[in-house]
Amino acid sequence: MPTENPANAPASSTAAVQQAAPHQDFIRQIVRDDLASGKHVAIHTRFPPEPNGYLHIGHAKAICLSFGIAQEFGGWCNLRLDDTNPGKEDPEFVQGIKDDVHWLGYDWHELRHASDYFDVFYRGALKLVEDGLAYVDDLSADEMREYRGTLTEPGRHSPYRERSVAENLDLFRRMRAGEFADGSRTLRAKIDMASGNINLRDPALYRIRKVAHQNTGDAWPIYPMYDFAHALSDAMEGITHSLCTLEFEDHRPLYDWCVDKVDLPDHPELWQSVVAAGLEAKPAKPRQIEFSRLNLSYCITSKRKLAQLVAEHHVDGWDDPRMSTLRGLRRRGFTPAGLRLLIERVGVSKQNSVIDYAVLENCIREDLDATAARRMAVLDPLKLVITNLPAGHEETLVFPNHPKDESFGTREVPFARELWIERDDFAEVPPKGFHRLKPDGDVRLRGVGIVKCGQVVKDAGGNVTELHCTLDAETRHGLPGADRKVKGTIHWVSAAHAVASEVRLYDRLFSVPAPDSEEGGKSWLDHLNPDAKRVVQAWLEPAAADVEPERRFQFERLGYFVADRVDHRADAPVFNRTVTLRDVWARPTGQ
Ligand code: ATP
Ligand code: MG
Repeated sequence: MPTENPANAPASSTAAVQQAAPHQDFIRQIVRDDLASGKHVAIHTRFPPEPNGYLHIGHAKAICLSFGIAQEFGGWCNLRLDDTNPGKEDPEFVQGIKDDVHWLGYDWHELRHASDYFDVFYRGALKLVEDGLAYVDDLSADEMREYRGTLTEPGRHSPYRERSVAENLDLFRRMRAGEFADGSRTLRAKIDMASGNINLRDPALYRIRKVAHQNTGDAWPIYPMYDFAHALSDAMEGITHSLCTLEFEDHRPLYDWCVDKVDLPDHPELWQSVVAAGLEAKPAKPRQIEFSRLNLSYCITSKRKLAQLVAEHHVDGWDDPRMSTLRGLRRRGFTPAGLRLLIERVGVSKQNSVIDYAVLENCIREDLDATAARRMAVLDPLKLVITNLPAGHEETLVFPNHPKDESFGTREVPFARELWIERDDFAEVPPKGFHRLKPDGDVRLRGVGIVKCGQVVKDAGGNVTELHCTLDAETRHGLPGADRKVKGTIHWVSAAHAVASEVRLYDRLFSVPAPDSEEGGKSWLDHLNPDAKRVVQAWLEPAAADVEPERRFQFERLGYFVADRVDHRADAPVFNRTVTLRDVWARPTGQ
């Protein structure tokens, strides 16, 4: 049962995701029906981000749905950059969006920009004016808001609503020619000022903005509004199923109005301009279908807030591994397959809910458990000397790279008399149930055999600096004493061979599940987790260090780590902790 799907689930609940029945959601059912009935011979979807920021984990859902469904049903998906807001958009984000979609494992049929269609939009608007379905309004933005009415009161007609077609055509052409000041006039659809749906109360189609556009430069002093541009773009590209999030549900009647009233394929002259924009004639009428957004606890998925985190230096950039941007998650070591698994588990529905961050982490763990080779690393080192080995003793041990998958092969691990172990694998006064090393206690060193701690060496301040141990050499795997049982096994690295590495220990960026809630007068920034990044100097076995950036490992007993995409070098390794092996945030139920 997918979490978002159960009919009786309370809205906005945090719930654990159980095994989803994949690919049985209502959108796929609509697609299946439309193909079966012959309504469409092939399906065509699109993903239409606005290039005003980098994509975040929420977008992964929209991407996996639109690209994934097209792929599953042998159709196409376009990547369309919705660049109708000049000034706020940036080519850097366009490149980022393309990279992120590819990284998630998808490719587009056509790459389009809404700005490719500015001419078609304009001709479509002229047609609406000619048909008496749009008018030029001189009300200011404030007046328009006032005239619009409220949810309980109908709107009022603008005094300019009944202008003649000829006057409207003249004014709209002059808007286009740049004769009027920003904000002085708008082109509005003439629909119904009394509609219960405020989106239909004569919505604006065009506004005057004398701002240069990144693709079209100064060619246009007017820009189309999202609803108009989006509906026509879908129609032009032959989109069959236009998938978007629930907040657009109330816009659907306007979407349909724009598609129907402009009616591109029925107008040869208009359709000419579609063909001129490089599109074949694909006169399918698009259908908008809404699904619920992906919301994750402990996460922010608003571009504006993500941008604020970067601008105010709460993080080190858009790709900071604490960020819920796709590039942040990538740098953190999250895998495309793990993210796709999350989206599959979460399922598709119209029910709003919040998915527990632990569900995401579990998907990543599941993927990495199967795909990441094992290595040993020590994050907080304590020296362990094996006193019954001769000085200068050195050996090369052979370790499997994966405990469950032989195809990963083996590697050589240097072993010597002096090792680093984790400081917290030793306790002078062990708490109850402590099964690691203690004075006079035994522990198994992974792949080596059992050592007994004979002497604890301390400095003048009473801090433990070294452990002197003796090795029972007969207890190594494959030798007669190997069956000897001890309760604990710990990892280690050879002090002489280990490679020093910077390791960045990342954790959740926010310390509360709902950072956006303004309870208690707190702002979301008050919930930043100060411990979300901790940097330590660690020791790695050599086979962990000499790897390319973005190589992922499980460091045994510690978690999954990735060689940093930007800073890692084989001779100066930098690793990021992707996720711990177990959920350290789990709370007893009810809290
Ligand atoms: P934000 O609210 O963060 O600014 P946006 O919705 O304005 O994001 P767009 O670039 O317009 O960002 O989004 C492109 C597509 O991604 C839209 O179709 C939108 O519905 C979808 N999308 C955005 N956020 C989510 C989310 N959290 N879950 C699923 N889909 C999303
Ligand atoms: Mg948007």
